[in-house]
Amino acid sequence: MDCQCLTCESPRRRLWSWKRKPPLTEIAAENWMALLKCPDCGQLWCEVPHEPYASFLFWTAWPSTEEQWRRLIQIDQGRILHDWHDAVLREDHALLEGEEKEAVAFWRERTYRHYNPIDRSPEFSKPKYCSTSKDIEKYVEQGG
Ligand SMILES: [Zn+2]
Repeated sequence: MDCQCLTCESPRRRLWSWKRKPPLTEIAAENWMALLKCPDCGQLWCEVPHEPYASFLFWTAWPSTEEQWRRLIQIDQGRILHDWHDAVLREDHALLEGEEKEAVAFWRERTYRHYNPIDRSPEFSKPKYCSTSKDIEKYVEQGG
């Protein structure tokens, strides 16, 4: 049986776009990333404003705890978490449908299919810690 949260659609969904903002509650914000919580199932989500003008928001489902997020956001200006967030975006954007799919296509055009973590032109900073979303497992302390 497909048991997913009706509010944030976790665990089926790992990515939301600004086009359809889920009703999440912010619990922390630092280094260009906010941590939010689903009021219904408690799933944690990371919000990052993307260019241009930091006006394109994406939320990715955080697979660990609030404590781990608070620890990792302090390291290298949150670069580990930002690399992971970008990897989820790269891996799951094609799963978005309808107006969200159109929104991502618009955003990629808006960034000239260069300056975004999906298209990643040579000028776009390369991942330092997480090339894939699974790489975050190397940095999360288990049972911590
Ligand atoms: Zn939920």
